[in-house]
Amino acid sequence: MNEDINRRALRAALDERVIEVLFKPSNYKLCLVKSRDRKALYLIYPDRYCSCTSFLFNLYKKGKGKCYHLKAYEIAIKKNLIKIIEEKDENFEKYFVKILMGILR
Ligand SMILES: [Zn+2]
Repeated sequence: MNEDINRRALRAALDERVIEVLFKPSNYKLCLVKSRDRKALYLIYPDRYCSCTSFLFNLYKKGKGKCYHLKAYEIAIKKNLIKIIEEKDENFEKYFVKILMGILR
């Protein structure tokens, strides 16, 4: 099980699915991991929180640590694989909708 999480995390990092979006002009920053099909986004606060259901309902409650999104972020930081995207503030909703899609999966 753990191996599976590590493998998925590594693949997400290598696929450049770990992104940081910097909104302008507010300078509001979001750390996100794209789903495998890239249609949904998972909002993460590194080392603390992920918006995926796995984190919310299983890992967090059972104190088992991290989902693969949080691990993917760690790997991406170490390997310098985080993709930085600059966006206009008015495009925030587009990201928000994708985060909601990730919660609903
Ligand atoms: Zn997650």
